[in-house]
Amino acid sequence: MKFHIFTLFPNVFESPLAEGVVGRALKSGLIEIKINNIRDYSTNKHGSVDDYPFGGGPGMLLKPEPIFESIRSKVQDKTISEGSPLILLSPQGRKFNQKVAKELSQKEEISLICGRYEGFDERIRSNLATDEISIGDFVLSGGEIPAITIIDSVSRLLPGVISSIESAENDSFFNDLLQYPQYTRPAKFEGLEVPKVLLSGNHSEIEKWRRLESLKKTKDRRPDLLSKAHLTEEEQKFLDSL
Ligand code: SAM
Repeated sequence: MKFHIFTLFPNVFESPLAEGVVGRALKSGLIEIKINNIRDYSTNKHGSVDDYPFGGGPGMLLKPEPIFESIRSKVQDKTISEGSPLILLSPQGRKFNQKVAKELSQKEEISLICGRYEGFDERIRSNLATDEISIGDFVLSGGEIPAITIIDSVSRLLPGVISSIESAENDSFFNDLLQYPQYTRPAKFEGLEVPKVLLSGNHSEIEKWRRLESLKKTKDRRPDLLSKAHLTEEEQKFLDSL
């Protein structure tokens, strides 16, 4: 899968995309990341990319010309496929979650446009972007961290990127449930013991225990998720009994 990033701060991406799962996916060619500096497309001799808001108000806005030009030139030279998603990172967008990550992981390429300052001229939103995504109800100084968040979570879902696709399937949110509790050695730590079933070697009992723990944890911490989860009648009864 290909990710195209449009940013004013290309250096922000260096280390986060070079390490761990994403770094390995890049090295093995399972993902490609192209970083474009919006400033290279400034139409103004001073290289400026922002300007004051009409009507007054604090801060500066990203001008439309450099962003339209940067995307158009990449579509024209076929670096970006026409019709592929052009995603504006913005606190005003639809909320990013595991379902959106899954949806994006099925695309061949996506472009991520990072804002800065007070944000974008509205025409970028209305006439260029095809989607607008927020990583949560809070305001960051730029779209770079949201772009890294999206690349990381989408990459994990691509075949071959993590060692076993099962680990993504066991993650929280994959089935609209939080993950069950996990333990590693030692079996006893400062008097705290690992649940016996996990040491039993009985895989069907372990699976059963994990599923029920996952249901319990979700009901306790994120009951809002349960309405979307696929539950058997027995599991529903179990939840009702808690
Ligand atoms: N004034 C803008 C508003 O209220 O919508 C916020 C601008 S913010 C300081 C600068 C940039 O950071 C945004 O244009 C966006 O690209 C990025 N950003 C900030 N918070 C974000 C979030 N929660 N999700 C995605 N991008 C965000």
